Amino acid sequence: MVDQMNSKFAYRNTSTLVDTSAESQPVWFIHEDISDADEPLLSPLFQESFTQWINEGAGLALFGAGEFLLFNKEAAFVAGAGAGKQTTVLSASDEEALDSIIRSALSSGSMKINESEDCFAAAVPVSRRKDGAVFCVLAYLAPIDAKPNLEQLLQCSLHFRSCFYHKFEHIYVKDLLLQQRRSDQDAKRKDALFRAAKRLYDQIDVASVLSELLYSLEQLFPNSEVQLYLSQDHLNGDPRVKPLVFKNAEHDLVAKAFLNGKSVTEHDRDGTLRLAVPMTGKQAAYGVLCMSIGPGLWDEGDLPAFLLLADTSGSAFENAKLYEQSNLLINELRLINELTKRLNQSLRLKEIFQFATSELLTIFDADYCCVLQLNKEKNQFIVMSSNFPALTSEQFSPDYGFCGMVYRTREPLIISDYWHTRVVTSKLMDNTGSRSLIAAPIMVDGEVVGVILVTHKAPNFFSYDNYKLLQVMSTHIGLAVTNASLHAEVRRMVITDNLTGLHARHYLNEQIQNKQRKDPFGSLILVDIDLFKRVNDTYGHQVGDRILIQVSDIIRGSIRQGDIAARWGGEELAVYLPGIRAEQAYRIAERIRQHVELETDPVVTVSCGVSEWTFEDEKISVESLFYRADMALYDAKHNGRNCIFVGQS
Ligand code: GH3
Ligand code: MG
Ligand code: MG
Repeated sequence: MVDQMNSKFAYRNTSTLVDTSAESQPVWFIHEDISDADEPLLSPLFQESFTQWINEGAGLALFGAGEFLLFNKEAAFVAGAGAGKQTTVLSASDEEALDSIIRSALSSGSMKINESEDCFAAAVPVSRRKDGAVFCVLAYLAPIDAKPNLEQLLQCSLHFRSCFYHKFEHIYVKDLLLQQRRSDQDAKRKDALFRAAKRLYDQIDVASVLSELLYSLEQLFPNSEVQLYLSQDHLNGDPRVKPLVFKNAEHDLVAKAFLNGKSVTEHDRDGTLRLAVPMTGKQAAYGVLCMSIGPGLWDEGDLPAFLLLADTSGSAFENAKLYEQSNLLINELRLINELTKRLNQSLRLKEIFQFATSELLTIFDADYCCVLQLNKEKNQFIVMSSNFPALTSEQFSPDYGFCGMVYRTREPLIISDYWHTRVVTSKLMDNTGSRSLIAAPIMVDGEVVGVILVTHKAPNFFSYDNYKLLQVMSTHIGLAVTNASLHAEVRRMVITDNLTGLHARHYLNEQIQNKQRKDPFGSLILVDIDLFKRVNDTYGHQVGDRILIQVSDIIRGSIRQGDIAARWGGEELAVYLPGIRAEQAYRIAERIRQHVELETDPVVTVSCGVSEWTFEDEKISVESLFYRADMALYDAKHNGRNCIFVGQS
């Protein structure tokens, strides 16, 4: 009942409340009165004040002898002691007469009386205190023999009026207080909102914006349940932050709000209000803020605050996101720069792969990393570097596992949970117990030459940004591999003789020098084709070249891996045998000599000079080693050729 009054009184001019000084306080409401506009709302006030008045006057004779009834300005019954209209039974004519005196009292503003054979009826108008307008009529019915004292009747009506005004003032004050409370609440809400907005804008990372938003909502709408649906990946420990999924967009409140960019409200069957407001920035929509609030707990006045908060949080979220992204980009650029710099410091492939492995593990905070290189001759991927020792030097067919997938598609790859999406079988994933993977090809000249695999034991560990960063990094690793390969190729060319494929003379010199520093002894064989000039003269230079190649191949086939064969000059070839004494070198030279005689076409023979050095020698040098071998060769030539001589040390 009070609420109904309040809703109307809330529009009243409250200027009288402004002055609350001591002397004005007792009379501040005297000037307040009911108005015509209040008529429809007076009924409860009539009933309440009438009941109170009856209770207060219960002891008086007047109340015992007759019955009071109250009628409003339309002469309609509004209150009486009985439950029905009246307890006194009237004849039709008395009834008619009562109505007539009520109307007459209303129009004239003075008391009217009717007396019939057995009934006394009086109608006393009750007027407003400010302008004297009649606003209701108090009727009194009594048996004709209990006619009341009219003055007492008038006094009683005045008493009723004061009861009425007492109630009116009570409600009026209550209304004002409520209004006051509301404006206080409003001010508090605005203040809280302002502070929340400021705090939101103060945050520079997305996680803080979200926690601030949830905290502010908690403070501003303590009766509600709030959920935040985000359209982009965001890991947040708060269970109220959820991913936005479009399951049934037409019926889903959240999806609807997001897609239409407008707030949507809905009432559940139990009366719970659900409100979904899109959280948008200048560039995009980031999610939907959803609030549910139980029946009767929602105040429409809260809506603007909620909308404003959603709007503010959208902008703050966007700002933080942009800030985070730019930081991320700066960080990525820094990482790429560092990686490239360090990769370029090395021209050795193995070193590059090892370095890449350790860097990638750190950059992605990964558990395992594995870099494989494609060996074209073997048609196998070989693990060049890995922090999982069991895999080192393992070989895989180019169609095996994730490496095979990357090789086939030439595209990077992201697996969020290997246990759920086992697209291929992977030894790396199985043996390390990994669930997340990012992989990228290492490309050189548009060809896949290797594959990088980075894994983590936790599912959904790598983000899309990680995946993109690995792609960029693999390009740089590819460039480093290209550089190293080119370097290796150039070096190979520099140390190799073009025609024979044997090493160049300077390389042989370098190597012998190196070996003499570490080994206890070694031998050198100089091989010279006999009468080669004649071969050239007889068959031409091209055939001469072919013979040179044949002899070189025979030499290559007659020595071990650690031995070094080189073209010493013209048709003279040399073999250095580390850790080999002269006797054994002689046998190897003999083997070469025999093979040449048997296998060359047209047949040629070779003469060899052998020399050795040991750590006991007074002077150890490449020159003396060669000199002695050359001397021995000279002896061989002068001894009829196609033979071997060992030089004296
Ligand atoms: P000897 O048995 O005394 O060694 O007689 P020889 O004819 O082999 O010796 P000589 O030093 O007189 O001649 C070496 C010849 O080898 C001269 C040259 O035409 C030839 N020769 C040197 N380098 C090459 C080459 O790269 N290709 C060809 N086809 N011949 C070469
Ligand atoms: Mg010769
Ligand atoms: Mg010669």
